[in-house]
Amino acid sequence: MSSNSNRSIGRAFAFRLGLWYAGLFIVSAVALSAATYVLLARALAAQDHDVLQSMLSRYAVEYQRSGLAGLQRVIEADAGQGRHEGLLVRVVDERTEAVYFAAPPGWGEFDLSPLDAPSVSASGWATLGGLPDGAVLEVGSVMLPYRVMVQVGRSSHVRDELLGRFRARGLEILALIAVAAVAGGFLLTRAALAPLRALESTVRSILQTGQFDARVPIRDSHDPLDELGARVNEMLERIQSLVSGMRGAIDNVAHDLRTPLTRFRNVAEAALLTTDPERAREGLAQALEEADRVNATLTALMDISQAETGTMALALQPVRLGQVVDEAVSLYADEAEDRSIVLRSTVPHDLRVDADHTRLRQVLANLVENAVKYTDSGGRIDISASAGDGVVALNVRDTGIGIAPEHLPHVWDRLYRADASRTTRGLGLGLSLVKAVVEAHGGRVEVTSVPQQGSTFTVMLPTAAVPIEGTTPGTRHPVSGFRTTGTGHPSAGRRHPARR
Ligand code: ADP
Repeated sequence: MSSNSNRSIGRAFAFRLGLWYAGLFIVSAVALSAATYVLLARALAAQDHDVLQSMLSRYAVEYQRSGLAGLQRVIEADAGQGRHEGLLVRVVDERTEAVYFAAPPGWGEFDLSPLDAPSVSASGWATLGGLPDGAVLEVGSVMLPYRVMVQVGRSSHVRDELLGRFRARGLEILALIAVAAVAGGFLLTRAALAPLRALESTVRSILQTGQFDARVPIRDSHDPLDELGARVNEMLERIQSLVSGMRGAIDNVAHDLRTPLTRFRNVAEAALLTTDPERAREGLAQALEEADRVNATLTALMDISQAETGTMALALQPVRLGQVVDEAVSLYADEAEDRSIVLRSTVPHDLRVDADHTRLRQVLANLVENAVKYTDSGGRIDISASAGDGVVALNVRDTGIGIAPEHLPHVWDRLYRADASRTTRGLGLGLSLVKAVVEAHGGRVEVTSVPQQGSTFTVMLPTAAVPIEGTTPGTRHPVSGFRTTGTGHPSAGRRHPARR
């Protein structure tokens, strides 16, 4: 899909989302305005009623105190002071004849006969429609002794006008809110989706170029999308280093396989061409050896993956650690001696661990080989062990080149090689095999190192639960079968990664 169509899809999505937000916002604004309108209308109506009610109460008190004449006096005094402006004031006697009547101009022709209905005097309130200005007349009545009734009415005109203005302004404001909500919703959604668009464009660029060097821009806002971008960047970082590590390893593997394969071809060809049966036999034996090396290199790669995925078959049994250490040491004793490196084991012979003998020898062979490989002539390698809390800790300490702190956490990674080791032969598979095999035994590994002073690799394994004498049968773990062709076997070749 082209980036243009992606962008327009992104815009359409932002617009749709913005529209949803705007819709919700507008609905809320309308609901709020409607509620305000209703409350305001009620408050105004209640206020009008209160005004009428207080006048009626005053007139009733006056009537009771001074009779009809007194009532008339007060009403006329009120009228004189302009208190009846905009009001209908009516006093009717027991014959329903108006004793007093005052109304705003224009209301004269208005039919007030419904106000004499018994229901009006009973309920105290009546509403008449059809005022000249289209408003309604709200009238409060109070029945006094001797069937004298006082009525005070007021047009809803002022209130209606106020509410009408409120409606008109309210609609204008709502229209503005709607426009602002749609535009704001769209802009906000676009801004909120910007990190996702950046993420999408990073992924797209990786897909298009096949290179893992693109990164999601981080805004340091620490919001969840920023965090997501940071995690994606970390993931890309790891993928990138894994991919480049694997590329390097494939090159290494190809390089390491080509040499024995070429030798294999040469000796096989020479054996074929020779007429001397003795030389032909010798050639075939050499060819076999080369084939074994290739096979062992490939097996090392498969072993790691089996140990890491938990499918490695382990024949667990109580194993004398000292004996296995001696076997591994004997593999490298000559090389150590050649380079004047002191290689010494002080592992007590009665220490036992629950392990697969062949795999454990493979682990130790890798650690001792590394120690010899990364220690300069005249150095020293000490292998010691101690037991406690059901765990045996085995240390392989060397006085070699050491490992820089930035490399230290990675040395167990598959295919990882520290810069300092580039000049030495290796695939970066040895320690990952050590770790995978030890963890498959339920143990763990540790390393401490000081550059130019040396390293100590520690392997921790569970102590054997049963004594060695009266040998217990090996536990098959897992049940998929026990492979006897361990690459750590001394016959697998000493100075070649194939022994791994
Ligand atoms: P390699 O085949 O490169 O030896 P390993 O997996 O055995 O691969 O080791 C990984 C890296 O750890 C090595 O490349 C090296 O940089 C470092 N390393 C391992 N053992 C030692 C040691 N004893 N001293 C210094 N560096 C070591």
